[in-house]
Amino acid sequence: MHIVPKITPIYQTSVFKFEDLNELELYFGEPGSRYMYSRNGNPNSDELANAVNLLEGGAGAIATGSGMAAIFAAIMTYCVAGDHVLCAADIYGGSSALLNLELSRLGIAVTYVPFEDLGGDLTPYLQPRTRLLLCETISNPLLRVVELRAAAVACHACGLKLVVDNTFATPVLTRPFDHEADLVIHSVTKYISGHSDVTAGVVVARAVEDASRLKQIGVLFGLTLSPMESWLAVRGLKTLRLRVEAHCRNAEAIAQFLQQQPVVKAVHYPGLREHPQHLLAASQGGQLFGGMLSFQLEDEAELVNQFMRATKRFPFAPSLAGVDSSLSYPLGTSHRSLTPEQQVDLGITVGLVRLSVGIEPISELLTDLEEVFAAVSHTV
Ligand code: PLP
Repeated sequence: MHIVPKITPIYQTSVFKFEDLNELELYFGEPGSRYMYSRNGNPNSDELANAVNLLEGGAGAIATGSGMAAIFAAIMTYCVAGDHVLCAADIYGGSSALLNLELSRLGIAVTYVPFEDLGGDLTPYLQPRTRLLLCETISNPLLRVVELRAAAVACHACGLKLVVDNTFATPVLTRPFDHEADLVIHSVTKYISGHSDVTAGVVVARAVEDASRLKQIGVLFGLTLSPMESWLAVRGLKTLRLRVEAHCRNAEAIAQFLQQQPVVKAVHYPGLREHPQHLLAASQGGQLFGGMLSFQLEDEAELVNQFMRATKRFPFAPSLAGVDSSLSYPLGTSHRSLTPEQQVDLGITVGLVRLSVGIEPISELLTDLEEVFAAVSHTV
């Protein structure tokens, strides 16, 4: 019987067998011809890395155990002790915590660059050993959109690499390599896998040499992803385009709804005409604006609590990008480790709520929000 599965099976094994020494030499001789040990390579993690690489248009990728592992691998691709990196001030709190608390201990220093300066003259921020700039295509949690080509030009003019966390945008909206970025990172935990059941990451390189550096870093730091997680992520990835389009449609409708609510002081969504980077977002995102948004209530914790308790369709679950909607609270979760001054500077205050809009029927989400705002407004 010749069994040929349509879908790659899960190679749930930590190691592969060789017939003899000749087979072992084949493994070391012909890249990609054999597998030996799953930390070094596994058909499922390779399938995920290759699929994201193809979507992003890269020269090679690695799948990692988390988005954080992906960020770490990306920075280690270019930096050694004594180096310095630039990081967008608007960034996921875990990224800044990694830089501030851990990479600093390895002798890699960081300077934060305000959003307005990302695509401009970076020389005021440079040190003799500045190597790269890390930024997000669409920032977490305030949905600021970085002009990637300007950032790439600014970086390359000073000999820096541009490393882009494309988690919020996904390659459905934006492919950073089309704008000359050097490395692209994803928290696969989010849209790439899409069902809130996987923790994983990926780093994609534009240059072949960077892809092989990444491969070695993944293997030697032990950052690589397990077969089961890889398989789940590959399954989720197959519907990425459909999911992202549905997330975007729903988020646009909800952003417009939120704008009408008297208790909402501001809505941050690049699809709104009022958003400061709306035109850039439209051109860089192919008229899609993403499934994430945040909004500002009065800075009163009890108001936020009322909102959280009243909603039935947006559970407070501090992650994002699953097919089911959820909400998060940046001040208390993703951006908790920032100093109070940094939080205020960035606009991450007590009343800021972030929504991850799912792909449910929009009428159900809007009905829920109507009920929530009726209840909340009643008590204000
Ligand atoms: N990048 C962004 C933009 C994120 O929002 C997150 C997590 O929330 C990460 C990276 C880290 O990913 P992970 O939680 O998979 O390690």
